[in-house]
Amino acid sequence: MQNPSDSDALIAVIGGGPAGLLAAQRLAEAGHRVVVYEAQATVGRKFLVAGHGGFNLTNAEPLPDFAARYASHSRRFQQLLGHFSPADLRQWTTDLGIATYVGTSGRVFPMAEHKPAQLLRAWVARLGQLGVEIRTRHRWLGFAGATGLRIQDETTGDEITIHPAATVLALGGASWSKTGSDGRWTTALAQIGVQCIPFQPSNCGAEIAWSAFFREKVQRTPLKNIALSCGPHTVRGELMLTEYGIEGTPVYALTPFIREALGQSPTAQLLLNLKPDLAPAALQERLAQRRSGTSWASFLASTLRLGPPIPTLLREVGPPALPPEPTELGHLLTHLPLPVSGLRPLEEAISTAGGVAWSEVDEHLMLQRRPGTFVAGEMLDWEAPTGGYLLQGCFSTGAWAAHGVTRWLQDYRNTA
Ligand SMILES: Cc1cc2nc3c(=O)[nH]c(=O)nc-3n(C[C@H](O)[C@H](O)[C@H](O)COP(=O)(O)OP(=O)(O)OC[C@H]3O[C@@H](n4cnc5c(N)ncnc54)[C@H](O)[C@@H]3O)c2cc1C
Repeated sequence: MQNPSDSDALIAVIGGGPAGLLAAQRLAEAGHRVVVYEAQATVGRKFLVAGHGGFNLTNAEPLPDFAARYASHSRRFQQLLGHFSPADLRQWTTDLGIATYVGTSGRVFPMAEHKPAQLLRAWVARLGQLGVEIRTRHRWLGFAGATGLRIQDETTGDEITIHPAATVLALGGASWSKTGSDGRWTTALAQIGVQCIPFQPSNCGAEIAWSAFFREKVQRTPLKNIALSCGPHTVRGELMLTEYGIEGTPVYALTPFIREALGQSPTAQLLLNLKPDLAPAALQERLAQRRSGTSWASFLASTLRLGPPIPTLLREVGPPALPPEPTELGHLLTHLPLPVSGLRPLEEAISTAGGVAWSEVDEHLMLQRRPGTFVAGEMLDWEAPTGGYLLQGCFSTGAWAAHGVTRWLQDYRNTA
């Protein structure tokens, strides 16, 4: 390690995703000399992928509700969000010349005229102004002794060992490996005894063994305004029927519970409510209006707006014949069983659960086993639903790790 009491000591940030770049920015703003090492040819690849799918930067919901999205880590995130809040994220975006707006369900997006690449370009330019050096095609291979980092220049194949005063690791999760987040870094951390929780897909589709007939007939079809439940957890939104099963916001939000259910039995039974806005009594009243001679398919379509592919779905997962009695049929339409046999592969997932165990870091996200090395972003073991909570979590942990580095260097200097 460089002597951390040198005023121009180098801070290494490994990984040029949102967590790493924000840590680099905050460190440079605090007056440190920062070099970002990124294995890919460019930084922010997954950030740009996120941009293609709507670019939901954060969420405008109140902080306690926001923190609750991080489930069992909500207390920790309450503190992290207090340090770099959703409002701070919006201000940061504005400072880069990108205005944001609050859309449905509080989701915050850049204004339509701003493309994701524009935001990333403005950010990289700001980092340049702050003196942050970005070395792309430089892969971190692991630790070297007590203080070194092994870095490989992927262009020449040359390997060097650097001794930074402090390090922020922000290597991402383990999905969409073409963006650089390949999860291979766990090996290097395991070598120094850091416990990493195995990666699991999060915010991903769920598999249902549809019949060949159903797959052929339905293909990809959205079901708007439904409610989906896994045990006591219910999420509203739009569901997409796909050739492999189901996807969409309600499925993504339920992945932790589906995963848990699949850990206990080979099939996780989800319940689909096709009419969540209609009270059971009102639904039964409408179902009772069917005249003899009217087919169920045309009746459901005209009276309840449950046209195709609903009759096909009912035949696929419901009983062989629809119950004629309104109470029973009403129950079926609001508790349609969807037997999920698995989650989609890690590679396809929007995010991953698992990564560095929280017990391995102190309250400033510094590795207990390697003082001076901090961890930020999706590589930590947390998960959250889509809705802006993922990027916000990465930004907040990045800012907090940078704060931790500054504090640690100050303590070191004071005691040196
Ligand atoms: C399809 C899709 C859509 C998404 N949409 C949204 C959205 O709308 N809103 C939202 O909040 N989130 C969204 N996300 C999630 C969000 O993009 C990620 O949570 C976020 O990018 C993670 O940031 P990170 O900095 O922790 O890691 P990453 O962005 O994964 O960055 C990690 C970086 O580390 C580099 N790296 C890895 N190993 C090494 C090594 N050994 N040496 C050097 N560099 C290395 C990688 O190349 C990568 O650049 C989406 C994700 C996907 C896949």
